[in-house]
Amino acid sequence: MKYDIVIGLEIHVALLTESKFLCSCATAFGAPPNTQCCPVCLGLPGALPLVNEQAVEYAVRAGLALNCEINHFSRFDRKNYFYPDLPKAYQITQDVFPICTNGYLEYYIDDVLRRTTITRLHLEEEAGKLVHSSGSIVDSEYSLVDYNRAGIPLIEIVTAPDITSPRQARLFLEQLRLLMLYMGVSDTKMEEGSLRCDANISLKPAGSTVLGTKVEIKNLNSFRALERALEYEAARQSRVLEQGGEIKQESRTWDERSGRTLSMRSKGDAPDYRIFPEPDLPPLRLEPDWVFRIRETLPERPLERLHRLEESYGLSRYESTFLVNYADFCQVFLELAEEGEDNTDLANLLMGDYARLAREQGHLEPQRLAGLLQILQEGLITHNQGKAVLEELFKSPLSAREIVKEKGWEVLKDPAQLKGVVQQVLTANSELVERYRGGEEKLWGFFVGQVMRTVQGKADPQMVNELLKGELTQKS
Ligand SMILES: [Zn+2]
Repeated sequence: MKYDIVIGLEIHVALLTESKFLCSCATAFGAPPNTQCCPVCLGLPGALPLVNEQAVEYAVRAGLALNCEINHFSRFDRKNYFYPDLPKAYQITQDVFPICTNGYLEYYIDDVLRRTTITRLHLEEEAGKLVHSSGSIVDSEYSLVDYNRAGIPLIEIVTAPDITSPRQARLFLEQLRLLMLYMGVSDTKMEEGSLRCDANISLKPAGSTVLGTKVEIKNLNSFRALERALEYEAARQSRVLEQGGEIKQESRTWDERSGRTLSMRSKGDAPDYRIFPEPDLPPLRLEPDWVFRIRETLPERPLERLHRLEESYGLSRYESTFLVNYADFCQVFLELAEEGEDNTDLANLLMGDYARLAREQGHLEPQRLAGLLQILQEGLITHNQGKAVLEELFKSPLSAREIVKEKGWEVLKDPAQLKGVVQQVLTANSELVERYRGGEEKLWGFFVGQVMRTVQGKADPQMVNELLKGELTQKS
């Protein structure tokens, strides 16, 4: 039987606030363990939380970027469970009345614009971090706990189950990450845990409207892990169904090393969270004017930038996508494009050797790059020499023009001078010239190569070809 894959995602995004969600502790990553804690985020008796306005603003900004309805009334709840990384033994979250609902995210799959529904987006607090003595909880003698992370503000974004392939799930998450980065609400570093994703996946007979039993996959900490885990799980579920078995509703974890999902706990073992309204925090009431101001100052979204680069600058989808994905390169591009540099030349320069060098050594002053484009357009150097000049620009404080002058790299533009070189080469190889004239046309490349070698590559290839043609046909 053929099956349709049904995938929904839950994404946790750590917000880039300077202080925590409900207290004034710092949020910097990498501080010594348990140095960024206070009675509030440790849940000591009598401590009272206070909501960080910046976190609420970031949640609204993310919600607006995802085309959500912003709820002017939302409320906090306590989700109770016992685990060592949760000092209060409950998490403050928004269960019944989330701050944002009913949005969507658009993104391209092979040039087709697709849309995934965002069911809800809510605010909650982060748990602490367990550090196991031997890397894995299974074979550790003991675990330590670091509460620096406890209480950092998070938004949880939940999609509708309208994603239909593992690859689509990855493309969605890539676009979501970029959007959060553009909105300035998170650093979205998956390796540091500031962007995390859980996936729900089920199979149903092709075309059926009845959903199958879903399995939740946790511990997906890279785009690759997300796609691979979903591929593995779709294949596993299909095998079980083919053999007449039943899918158990359960949570599974992705094991990177074995490339498999492993059962964590079944539905029956799921904790009862005993969720109830948070008594220490009033409901959130957002002023329409305040929300309006955030909407008015919303930064450009990645998809908007993609379309702007294509429509206003005539770039291809490939070039535009590169610039959208690397905002620092885009900034260089926009600055120089405004000054009238050729857009396609500029994009190609940025995507080529420049990208490699800039990633290793940081960006050049845009003006120095403009200098290189200028002498390329003037024909002062050949395209190949442009690469060498670019390498020099990263090492030397000189301008592109000064580098060319100092190295003596100017292209030989004087036809008389170049003609002399061509004649010299032909005279030195008179035997081969005779053979060429006798019909051995493949010798052409040899003559071009000899001329170029004599002038150390500094000649315009087109001019060399023309001069050679003149010399070789003239006297025949
Ligand atoms: Zn604190």
